Amino acid sequence: MSRPRPRPKPRVLVHACCAPDALYVFEVLGEGHDVTGFFSNSNIHPREEYELRLGEARKVAGLLGVPLVEDAYDPDRWLAVAGKFKDEPEKGRRCDVCYALRLERTAERAARDGFDLFATVMSLSPWKKAAVMNRIGRQFGARYGVRFLEADFKKKDGFKKSVELSRAGGLYRQSYCGCLYSMRAAKGGDR
Ligand code: SF4
Repeated sequence: MSRPRPRPKPRVLVHACCAPDALYVFEVLGEGHDVTGFFSNSNIHPREEYELRLGEARKVAGLLGVPLVEDAYDPDRWLAVAGKFKDEPEKGRRCDVCYALRLERTAERAARDGFDLFATVMSLSPWKKAAVMNRIGRQFGARYGVRFLEADFKKKDGFKKSVELSRAGGLYRQSYCGCLYSMRAAKGGDR
């Protein structure tokens, strides 16, 4: 009697904002999913920092054997939308818009390429609001017809574990979230 074939793992497109977060979340999700990374981060300023973070994300993808899809870098579009909220503090409305811009790109791409699910690593950060991301993800999931994988990866010491893993792997860990405004705030000691 032939054995039943194992069911294929659901394919998930995982938005990755940086290598340290991707390393931990790709590993966690890889246990039950077929993971593809998606680097879509037009928020990152300046371009040199963007290139640096992308290079590190490629390194993680190579290390784990995970394909990495790279979105176009379009900081002008990001600024035109999120820049309206430039005076908001981190975790304010500017960040909600920034999550939405990146999650919409991920949802669109996941639908276009026939993924079962889409997700983001961003909830790993203690400076990011998982509940807001999950709400936005659900909305784009409904709009594009692909389910958002809701999560809060900082739970169960996720952030601590990601710091340890990325240190062990010698990965670059940024000192500010990504945009021009967060860079200025970090320089001014606001974070
Ligand atoms: S602080 Fe981070 S999440 Fe908020 S707008 Fe800037 S890059 Fe986006």
